[in-house]
Amino acid sequence: MNIVLLGPPGAGKGTQGERIAQTFNIPKLATGDVLREAVRQATPQGLAAKRFMDRGDLVPDSVILGIMKEALARPAAANGVVLDGVVRTVPQAEGLARVLGELGRTLDVVLLFDVDEEELVRRLSTRTVCEKCQSPYTGREPGSTCDKCGGTLVRRKDDEPDAIRTRMRAYREQTAPVIEWYRARAREGALRGQSAARVVSVDAIGAVDDVSARVLTALGK
Ligand code: ADP
Ligand code: ZN
Repeated sequence: MNIVLLGPPGAGKGTQGERIAQTFNIPKLATGDVLREAVRQATPQGLAAKRFMDRGDLVPDSVILGIMKEALARPAAANGVVLDGVVRTVPQAEGLARVLGELGRTLDVVLLFDVDEEELVRRLSTRTVCEKCQSPYTGREPGSTCDKCGGTLVRRKDDEPDAIRTRMRAYREQTAPVIEWYRARAREGALRGQSAARVVSVDAIGAVDDVSARVLTALGK
């Protein structure tokens, strides 16, 4: 099963994506994680991406397409993959369709995370992450200790107020149109009797376990 997770920053795609990956026993690909790792290792790709990320802007499509291609061609991804934040522009959606097509695969589900913006800004501005293992926390001050590994919690640079606003704008202007793009393909597919990814939306507000239950139901588990 190949699944795309779509939704605004802070909607919980990472947390739920992890659970989906475990349930279906397929890997999760998060371009945000891949890029942050590249920044940490100061690779040429990381250095190029850093200034976009720190501001909250999207990195260029060409960078994302490169990551996508490499990750999807891995044997571990042959049985399916959860794509978290991998598709944020229409050209990326087109690129993903092409890459999957070349591998003889298709996208099965586009899962939309439904949350209002106010809730998101609140979540992101009170979020800290572990410097060491990247686990996210809400409502814990920077400088606290990670429960999982003892590392120090820090505020992500792109969780500062200005960057949050930029990320929300990028979502509205560049990512929200991707939803329409997938819906149009689903309608066309239905008309022509061709297969196209199913677009399903889940209410992403509430406790993590409640949202997981909705997500798994939406995926037919
Ligand atoms: P969030 O979804 O909460 O914004 P992520 O950790 O998924 O955070 O991504 C962090 C940053 O990485 C994004 O703000 C963006 O700069 C960059 N990024 C990740 N995925 C993409 C993508 N598909 N296209 C463009 N930029 C991306
Ligand atoms: Zn940790």
